[in-house]
Amino acid sequence: MTEQTVEQQNKQVDQPAKVNLFALDRSGMEAFFTNIGQKSFRAAQVFKWIYQQGVTDFSQMTDLSKALRAQLTEEAIVQPPQVDQMQLSQDGTRKWLMRLPDGNGIEVVFIPEDERGTLCISSQVGCSLNCTFCATARQGFNRNLSSDEIVGQVWNAWHSLAEELGSTGFDGQQAKPGDKQTDLRPITNIVLMGMGEPLLNYEAVISAIATLRDDFGFGLSKRRITLSTAGMVPAMAKLAEDMPVSLAVSLHATTDELRNELVPLNKKYPIAVLLEACKAYVTDKQRQRVTFEYLMLDGVNDSDEQARELAKLLRYVPAKVNLIPFNPVEGIAYKRSPQKRVNRFRQILLNKGIVTVTRKTRGDDIDAACGQLVGKVDDRTRRSERMTSQRVAQPSAA
Ligand code: SAH
Repeated sequence: MTEQTVEQQNKQVDQPAKVNLFALDRSGMEAFFTNIGQKSFRAAQVFKWIYQQGVTDFSQMTDLSKALRAQLTEEAIVQPPQVDQMQLSQDGTRKWLMRLPDGNGIEVVFIPEDERGTLCISSQVGCSLNCTFCATARQGFNRNLSSDEIVGQVWNAWHSLAEELGSTGFDGQQAKPGDKQTDLRPITNIVLMGMGEPLLNYEAVISAIATLRDDFGFGLSKRRITLSTAGMVPAMAKLAEDMPVSLAVSLHATTDELRNELVPLNKKYPIAVLLEACKAYVTDKQRQRVTFEYLMLDGVNDSDEQARELAKLLRYVPAKVNLIPFNPVEGIAYKRSPQKRVNRFRQILLNKGIVTVTRKTRGDDIDAACGQLVGKVDDRTRRSERMTSQRVAQPSAA
């Protein structure tokens, strides 16, 4: 390499990157405006353009002066991940493959129902937790998503649905008689249940949720946002303080022996410790419950005895249970419990007074069902290096 090319490269690196405004929650954006010598209330104006009107081009933000629009074009961008592909399932579920600037891909799923539309978003590229039943685990951990990449997923899905559905959508128009809420704002709920463990990417996730909840942002109430965790106990307490949202916990087993095998994180935070953290999460909050996700694996965790054990474990936790039929993943040997078994398991929980629903499998014809998201990891060297180091670091005795 010649000296000149090194110099040129350094020059490129030294150039200050433009701020991607998707990365900033409102207080962050207020600070941004103050720093560039503007009034902080500009943040609310720009928020409304981006999240309510769907506008990312500063030149179209007509209530900002021309000079400010030019300044913003110099200093900032509003850039979501690139949408590479959208697949539509027979049942109306949609899955987008979104491409990140480094070439990695993430998957985002929209599940329409009669009364609501749920968007399932990702928090990491890959995952480091190695749950034995999960497709994402098989690709290893690549990296955390930045807050702009998390918010950008929602913006993309919202934008794509608004375009597809015509005039309805992005800005939540006034209802006409006969309109369903979901006609007006197709996305009513957001779940952080896609790829990755959200509580292992805490700061970016919290900042993204702030924008999802912001009245000038997506305006979703905290009850309509659900964070699903495999049981990162210390971060659960922090979440309750910083950004309370609905909590889902992937339990899947009633004994530490079995859970160590299914969700290796259990070796660090065993069931008793996890349930204490769940109890603490909902203390003092009216009518709030933790959702326990329980995968139904044929002959592994689906017996009558295990249903009774589960009811016993949850006796002192404000809980509801979501039974999830296992979705087949290539190369993973578990099988889905038969429907009769799932019904029986559910009945036992109901008889013990525990609110229990069986999750409908949606979008399985496009591999959009729970646990089937893989995205596209391009950075294979780093991925396999990390997988190897994880395996080495893992305690061998289960
Ligand atoms: N790391 C977080 C969020 C991602 S997983 C967590 O563990 O909760 C989201 C949900 O999908 C979890 O409940 C997970 O257990 C479930 N899941 C994973 N693989 C699955 C599969 N093959 N079939 C059905 N559900 C699966």
